[in-house]
Amino acid sequence: MAMSVVTRFAPSPTGYLHIGGARTALFNWLYARHTGGTMLLRIEDTDRERSTDAATAAILEGLTWLGLTWEGEPTSQFERAPRHREVAEELVRMGKAYYCYASQDELTEMREKARAEGRPPRYDGRWRDRDPAEAPAGVKPVIRIKSPTEGETLVRDRVQGDVRFPNKDLDDFIILRSDGVPTYMHAVVVDDHDMGVTHIIRGDDHLTNAARQTIIYVAMGWDVPVMAHIPLIHGADGAKLSKRHGALGVDAYRAMGYLPEALLNYLARLGWSHGDDEVMSIEDMIRWFEIEDVNKGAARFDFAKLEALNGVHMRQMDDRKLFDIFVATLPYLPGGDAILARLDDKRKAQLLAAMPGLKERAKTLIELADGAGFLFAKRPLPLDEKAAALLAGPAKDVLKGAHAALAGVNEDWNATSAEAAIREFAGRENVKLGAVAQPLRAALTGKSTSPGVFDVLAVLGRDESLARISDQID
Ligand code: GLU
Repeated sequence: MAMSVVTRFAPSPTGYLHIGGARTALFNWLYARHTGGTMLLRIEDTDRERSTDAATAAILEGLTWLGLTWEGEPTSQFERAPRHREVAEELVRMGKAYYCYASQDELTEMREKARAEGRPPRYDGRWRDRDPAEAPAGVKPVIRIKSPTEGETLVRDRVQGDVRFPNKDLDDFIILRSDGVPTYMHAVVVDDHDMGVTHIIRGDDHLTNAARQTIIYVAMGWDVPVMAHIPLIHGADGAKLSKRHGALGVDAYRAMGYLPEALLNYLARLGWSHGDDEVMSIEDMIRWFEIEDVNKGAARFDFAKLEALNGVHMRQMDDRKLFDIFVATLPYLPGGDAILARLDDKRKAQLLAAMPGLKERAKTLIELADGAGFLFAKRPLPLDEKAAALLAGPAKDVLKGAHAALAGVNEDWNATSAEAAIREFAGRENVKLGAVAQPLRAALTGKSTSPGVFDVLAVLGRDESLARISDQID
């Protein structure tokens, strides 16, 4: 039986879960799901200066919001430092690594000499074959790996293809610092090996690291996991992604009213494709995701596309599910707390009933909240400018007639009976339906756009509808 796939997401907790990190997590998650394997989570908190608990919490929350689940407890890289040390010392015992006592001055001199000669700065291996008995007293050494000096190191990347690194460019880099703290390069290898990771999927800014990491795997006699370095996300203008382009934490996307499934769909399409398919469910993505279909070129982040896709996902979504997501997201939306405070059982029912009309007109949950605003508005309703214009002049008389017509509907108040009453009135008075519907909408919602006006009447109910209309007549 083939070995089961184990992927991992390994963020450094130095900030929020940004959009690039979320996409890396998504690809790891999709591949694990696709193959029936598992995704692990490792918090790379070895750098104590830059790592914070708040960042770890933000990353876990972001992943949870997106539904990118991991297996078991997250691993703390920092807590595994003793194991990293043990492997570094084992490499020394095996003759694959060595203690280096070079002083800061020596290293600086080495760097400057290289620069003067136009060579890349590179440790010259001066302690590589030296007798440890020559160690200077009182100096705490670092441990360096013995990199091969000739030939090349091959990274067989599933996305980038075969990438060859001349070994002369990969010097004897440090794996354990003099204070016993492992370097990032070393910790990643030991952790991925111990965690049984079979596939490493990460940003292509780590491609050179892959060569150095390969040297450690080979030295330990460990299998090198399958590597897949995915292209980074750029801005719409092709420049490196900045805040202006959308390099924000996923929490910012939640606050902008995007659905997790739409954001995941968009992120998946950034750098991966399945034929011409644009709109995909999570199940589709799991079914279709193959590393081989990840593009080599950088992807461009485009807010307009994300927004359009979000609108499609909202319209496709079951009303009840969209309602639940909307309510759960309210605390994060601007003005959402005020809506939440007024969301009693009656309004919940109204909101759910209005959902089919509301979701047709909204591309984000913010627009949905805006559209649903009339349900939560207090009488007399504030009118926006367009609504006020619709209610000026002769419209008042039309509204009076409409009020009387609707007041005649006593039983079975619903969209159909309200429509019949308004049509009968418009016919009798010989006015166009729109000339009645527009002022009616303005009076009922305070706006010039809303779901269908008969649906609005039905959702608000007879008493509230008549009262709102009266407010604009008197
Ligand atoms: N912690 C690294 C980062 O945040 C990822 C390392 C890896 O995936 O190997 O970029």
